[in-house]
Amino acid sequence: MLKMLMCKLNLRHAWHIESSEDGSGRYRRCTRCGKYDRDSDGSGFMH
Ligand SMILES: [Zn+2]
Repeated sequence: MLKMLMCKLNLRHAWHIESSEDGSGRYRRCTRCGKYDRDSDGSGFMH
């Protein structure tokens, strides 16, 4: 699928904001490939 290709090429992920279990922080997780990304500044997409 094209969307999976977007994940594989690291072009775009379907980020979903989740909270850590102890509530001390947040992170993003891709709902398609499961990649984790720290939500440090909220706009840190690197291309
Ligand atoms: Zn992804």
